[in-house]
Amino acid sequence: MRPVTLFFILFFALFASSASFAKTLFINIGTGGITGVYYPTGALITKILNRSQGTLVMKAVVEPTSGAVFNINAILGGHLLFGLAQSDRQYQAVTGTADWLKRGPQKNLRSVFSLYPEIVTLVAAADSEIKTISDLRGKKVNIGPLGSGYRQNSLDALTLAGLDPLTDLTTFDQRVDRANKMLQHGDIDAFFYTVGHPNNSSNKASSGSRKVNFVAIPTTDTFFTDKPYYEKAVIPIAHYPAATNTSDVESFAVKAGLVTSAKVSEEIVYAVTKAIFENFDYFKNYHPAYSGLSKKEMIKDNEAPLHPGALLYYRESGLLP
Ligand code: GLU
Repeated sequence: MRPVTLFFILFFALFASSASFAKTLFINIGTGGITGVYYPTGALITKILNRSQGTLVMKAVVEPTSGAVFNINAILGGHLLFGLAQSDRQYQAVTGTADWLKRGPQKNLRSVFSLYPEIVTLVAAADSEIKTISDLRGKKVNIGPLGSGYRQNSLDALTLAGLDPLTDLTTFDQRVDRANKMLQHGDIDAFFYTVGHPNNSSNKASSGSRKVNFVAIPTTDTFFTDKPYYEKAVIPIAHYPAATNTSDVESFAVKAGLVTSAKVSEEIVYAVTKAIFENFDYFKNYHPAYSGLSKKEMIKDNEAPLHPGALLYYRESGLLP
């Protein structure tokens, strides 16, 4: 064989093997509005995936969306591979309740891991004299758009306070960044948002020229018996020194988590899970809303069944038996 022929054979053998070796996966992740915590979380996940090295090359992009309900539906419809979603919305999709009542149980929704608590947050203009949630009667209040996770939390909080969202107040269904502006311009009196703390939206809301206060949402035992996906929580007011509150604000919370579809391959979900867990310290230090994060906790509070790809990593790493 002539040396030049040998060179070509070797060249193609190497080229062909490295081409099949470095498989590229394209991944998109649905988040929320850019002032929330979902968007920076999605951006962080893509950053970790894009630089992780292994037999798979991942090309990940982050998508801003209207929130959890949009993300779950886009995943089930095959438009997104991954998305962030509130635990209560995962539960409702899986059981076919709330927004999924007509379509029935969404059997293909899968959890990858849970993240941080998201607290139902009610921000009111201090000059609108809303001291308690009952003071929302007769007011203009943003409850969030249809695709958001928090819209249902707003409705649950109003009902819990004995207010009928249809008749006792005027509701708006804007996205939170718009609601923030409307509050500052005097177009609304208050708005709801279910989000990790601290976050840019609450920072902005509390440092505008129109002063605001965070309003407590007192809960009852039966509320938690009826809605087991909620738990008590407190917004640490130290995060927002410009708000007029002088103490922490009681409310209730859900948990943010990464979800996907049963139709997404085990290989992809395994690679994503592994990349995040193997960069856990880097991940945790990225945002103050992750302060309580631990690997053990991330495997809990996943309301949709765990995806087999995630399960494989948890078993392999000894996090699950
Ligand atoms: N929990 C919100 C929702 O699902 C989004 C919060 C965020 O973007 O951080 O609508």
